[in-house]
Amino acid sequence: MATIKKLGHELVSEKHADVVVLNTCTVKYSTEQKILHKIKRLGEKGIEVIVCGCMPEVQLEEIIQHNPDAHVLGVNSISRIGEVLNFIANPAISSHNTSRQAIHVFSHEPAGFINVPRLRFNSNIHICQLSQGCNNACSYCIVRFVRGPLKSFHPDSIVEDIKQGIAEGCREIWLTSQDNAQYGMDIGISLPKLLERICEIPGDFKIRIGMMNPFSVLPIIEELLDVYENDKIYKLIHLPVQSASNDVLERMNRLHSIEEANQIIKSFRDRFSDLTLFTDIIVGFPGEKDSDFLKTVEWVREYRPEKVNISRYTPRPHTKALEYRNIDSRIVSQRSNELHNVCEEVKIDIRKKMIGWEGKVFISKEAKVKGLMARTASYKPVVIPESCAVAGSFCKVKILDATPGYFIGKIIT
Ligand code: SF4
Repeated sequence: MATIKKLGHELVSEKHADVVVLNTCTVKYSTEQKILHKIKRLGEKGIEVIVCGCMPEVQLEEIIQHNPDAHVLGVNSISRIGEVLNFIANPAISSHNTSRQAIHVFSHEPAGFINVPRLRFNSNIHICQLSQGCNNACSYCIVRFVRGPLKSFHPDSIVEDIKQGIAEGCREIWLTSQDNAQYGMDIGISLPKLLERICEIPGDFKIRIGMMNPFSVLPIIEELLDVYENDKIYKLIHLPVQSASNDVLERMNRLHSIEEANQIIKSFRDRFSDLTLFTDIIVGFPGEKDSDFLKTVEWVREYRPEKVNISRYTPRPHTKALEYRNIDSRIVSQRSNELHNVCEEVKIDIRKKMIGWEGKVFISKEAKVKGLMARTASYKPVVIPESCAVAGSFCKVKILDATPGYFIGKIIT
């Protein structure tokens, strides 16, 4: 969006747009269908549309079938959106010589977020992409076909990018990629080494480390635990276990057992007693028996993740799991609902136990509701309705109440 603005265009709502830019996702079947429907509808109305994001890399034919006039930007080409806008404005003088009504732009190398102009929805949060792609081959995953093998960005560029974000006033740094724990495997460095360098950047800021897969954490666990001791890092791990059944994990080609994932969680909890755990679970993977599903439900009750992203399995093109026989969709939806209820019970229980807690929080931003949003050292969200504190500062709070989404607290010192 920042690139579009920089080129002198105005960002308006879809209703008033001359050109609609669709940033697509191909992870789930239901999302893919909604997007294809939209691409078709815009074409029928004669509205110019640019399709970018993941879908063009693996589903170009479907896009063209739904709307032959759609312009397409590959996943590594978003910074070239100006070429497409110029073509739309004046095809005759565009550098793209084509007899078609639409142009397709693809680049091989990922640009990431580094040195790409950006527009922040939240001026206090700097999102830094560490790498693109993945060296694993989970049997259900289409993302690796879109993003290609692991390509880590150079640590110097990452540190510079974060310094820039901090200089612009950001106080929370979110590290993101397909799998943060894989960072550096292709360039002879590791995530803990990178984190050490990021923590050395002067200033009051906090680091939120995004998803890390258990099989990528295992080889770096000791160094990772050591670097997590730094106060700048939130005591939060997002560890997608996907299932608690080893049979299912094997068919998913996840390269870790549930016991190994559990050991990671125990190691973190031994070191950081207030650790927050996020996870992802796929329900209804082909061949998942009732007994497999039960193991996952029991796992949630025992390991008590604070947040669970539940996905109902749907087959994706190009993947190995496409060959497997799907289980009845009614069973998948029953299991998903059941698991959702258990996760909510666990979450409410965790929340209740925090009422009365007192401790230091980091004021991270304005709250969506009235007041300020603060985070405990383990990233638990605390809304402080009445406060004159400023984002980027620390203070001590008492938690007075809990809602499904956040805690309510008051400043005590
Ligand atoms: S770790 Fe697995 S699910 Fe994640 S991007 Fe890699 S192959 Fe896909």
